[in-house]
Amino acid sequence: MDLKLNEIKGIIPSNQIFTSLSDRHSYSYDASFGTFLPDMVIQVKNKIEVSSILKLANKYKIPVYPRGQGTSLSGGPLPVKGGIVLDMSQWDSYLSIEPDDLIAVVSPGVLTAKINDAAERYGLMYPPDPSSSHVSTIGGNLAENSGGPRGLKYGVTKDYVIGLEVVTPEGEIIKTGGRTIKNVTGYDLTKLIVGSEGTLGIITEATLKLVPKPPATLTLMAVFDDLILSGKAISKILTSGILPSKMEIMDQHSMIAVENYQPLGLPIESEAILLIELDGHPIAIKEEMNTVEKVFTEIGAVSVKIAGNEKEAEIYWKARKLVSPAIVKIKPTKVSEDATVPRSKIPEMFQRLKEIGEKYKVHLVVFGHAGDGNLHPNIICDKRDVEEMKRVEKAVEEIFEAAIKLGGTLSGEHGIGTLKAPFMEMELGHYGLDMMRRVKQAWDPNNILNPGKIFPEKGQKLVLRE
Ligand SMILES: Cc1cc2nc3c(=O)[nH]c(=O)nc-3n(C[C@H](O)[C@H](O)[C@H](O)COP(=O)(O)OP(=O)(O)OC[C@H]3O[C@@H](n4cnc5c(N)ncnc54)[C@H](O)[C@@H]3O)c2cc1C
Repeated sequence: MDLKLNEIKGIIPSNQIFTSLSDRHSYSYDASFGTFLPDMVIQVKNKIEVSSILKLANKYKIPVYPRGQGTSLSGGPLPVKGGIVLDMSQWDSYLSIEPDDLIAVVSPGVLTAKINDAAERYGLMYPPDPSSSHVSTIGGNLAENSGGPRGLKYGVTKDYVIGLEVVTPEGEIIKTGGRTIKNVTGYDLTKLIVGSEGTLGIITEATLKLVPKPPATLTLMAVFDDLILSGKAISKILTSGILPSKMEIMDQHSMIAVENYQPLGLPIESEAILLIELDGHPIAIKEEMNTVEKVFTEIGAVSVKIAGNEKEAEIYWKARKLVSPAIVKIKPTKVSEDATVPRSKIPEMFQRLKEIGEKYKVHLVVFGHAGDGNLHPNIICDKRDVEEMKRVEKAVEEIFEAAIKLGGTLSGEHGIGTLKAPFMEMELGHYGLDMMRRVKQAWDPNNILNPGKIFPEKGQKLVLRE
């Protein structure tokens, strides 16, 4: 790439270009599986730099891999075909809250939690709250259409983006949407770009919708002796006329892992707990919480406890937050899935997960955003153990099959990337996938942007071994 390096140096300051082996290694992995060495890493800080790189990449047919903070759990930013990694994470120069329009305008490298923090100073809220919001960029969140616990009531990233500035794969700068809540002019390219996992364009600016911050919250923990019954309780709450802001589940394995990691007094003899948060006016949520308590008691929860104060509520939510770090103490490798099913199918999905765990003798832990059917079956394993990993691969495949058979989807929030590409046709069918391929071809005729993602290559299989 020597000749191109000279050309690149003509458009990008040399302190933003990295070619040493150690620097390239730092960008060869994300939070999923597999390592792929890029030929070069370029940190970009404005749209002209992005546009110029893409024009050059088209001229020489060099793959370009946009990357935020590399926290993807599905292999999204991995440079599977070498080429250039375009690091967007250093471009965090712009975060403007415009309270009268209830919007935020941000540059792509801004950390998502910072948007919410800035909005709160105006009594506003940016609702999408992926657990990684303190370490992931808004660009990455938009590309993955990320979601979190608040998705139950407030929806996910796509529900809060009203305008984008995008550099197309051929290097043209375009605007989609705008600053208004209503906008029905032409095709909704904004929504097409959101969730396209860096395959259709590079997001260089986003206009995000904010909402008023609710004045109060209340938290409740319900304990169940039966995991399947806890699944039934989820639909029961949602049909009782109450929409919690969060409804999360932890199974017995997750509780035991947390207690071994940091004792918090969780009921580890039980099969599951549900954590519920209500937000809104303090009087209204008090009344609603009484109904929630009644519904859980009637359906057969062994105990139901409303947190008496903020400190108690914090402990409940801390338990949920500690699941991820706690389970990797059991074994070093975590295969974190996000198979999602319609809410009425949660009890059946729990049953299937139990059977799959037993069939393949894998340590399967289940927690997640129960309220929107977005479960996180996590398999705890050791990637150095080849025989175990083969069983894990089979178990993961069956988890996807089960979710799709129940009317669900491969991914509720982590995206497809490289890891779920082999299963795309199973969910979308031949023609559904072909239509997506045609969209990609129209936008990116030279297949420059993030090649090797979303679309399976011939014979591609899930491989979790090094
Ligand atoms: C501990 C942990 C917890 C997590 N919890 C959640 C969760 O609760 N909910 C959830 O949804 N996800 C979660 N994730 C997954 C991950 O954090 C999200 O997918 C996040 O959006 C990725 O952001 P990032 O900045 O790290 O992007 P990266 O991982 O660097 O990239 C992700 C994708 O975005 C593309 N991309 C990045 N920036 C741009 C841009 N500016 N323009 C176009 N494409 C771009 C990349 O090419 C890639 O395809 C979690 C991950 C970890 C490690």
